[in-house]
Amino acid sequence: MKILTKNKDINKALKKVSSLGFVPTMGSLHKGHKYLINQSKKKCNKTLVSIFINPTQFNNKKDYLSYPKNLKEDLNILKKLKVNYVYIPNKKDVYSFKRKKAVVLKKENKILCAKFRKGHFEGVIDVMDRLTNIIRPNKIFMGEKDYQQLLLVKKFIEKKYKTKVVSCKTVRNKNSLALSSRNQLLNKKDLIKASKIAMELFQFKKFLKNNKKTKYLLQKKTTFLKKNFGIKIDYLEIRKKNNLKSSSIIKNSKIFIAYYINKVRLIDNF
Ligand code: AMP
Repeated sequence: MKILTKNKDINKALKKVSSLGFVPTMGSLHKGHKYLINQSKKKCNKTLVSIFINPTQFNNKKDYLSYPKNLKEDLNILKKLKVNYVYIPNKKDVYSFKRKKAVVLKKENKILCAKFRKGHFEGVIDVMDRLTNIIRPNKIFMGEKDYQQLLLVKKFIEKKYKTKVVSCKTVRNKNSLALSSRNQLLNKKDLIKASKIAMELFQFKKFLKNNKKTKYLLQKKTTFLKKNFGIKIDYLEIRKKNNLKSSSIIKNSKIFIAYYINKVRLIDNF
């Protein structure tokens, strides 16, 4: 496993690689990341994993500073998975070149997390553009856990590069909770709470299949979750899978949630 930190090392190391899979991460790796890496290994000759906590996508400095970091353990995991390359750049490397045109989200995209985390996706798209430009992968593997991110990045990258963005299913623990690096910030009690919320929303999705009063039921469910679990909810919405347009039926749609347990913000979709 080669550890690369400088852009010029990347050029040298990847010169002769013809089928490169890229898994971008912010570290604190878990089984969700492992799944993406294994998908890349299945579909590409070589796999590169990046670990970079991108400061520009955090709309809140405290959130950025408290984001979990486990570099030593991450490298152990990547070695065991027999990843070919790990790219651990610093901010200077990633932001060494200036962009010609600022990333601007269209008004229609300022929904869900884009509405509640100002500048977040502009930061994500910018960094994914930069990393793709440096690495030039054939495929990028990203998780449905961050569904809005996946759609926005896929659209941007596939328009600009020959690279394909491959979507990968959400990996959950045995209690239905989507794995997330942020789960490390929760205590045992809050982890149980987060699992119960996930189970609740799986049930809710089933229930919506036979019910047309989705708007009313969503409002009721929002109130129930807030009261029952003492959480702050940014949004609980149903939107179409393919374009995230608002939807009043569950068919071809997904339930999207973002909420806070204590001060930790979690997102999921069902
Ligand atoms: P992150 O390190 O949280 O920025 O995530 C890096 C990549 O892993 C993104 O494409 C995420 O969507 C994906 N990912 C995060 N959690 C999961 C999960 N539970 N299952 C599948 N993919 C995930």
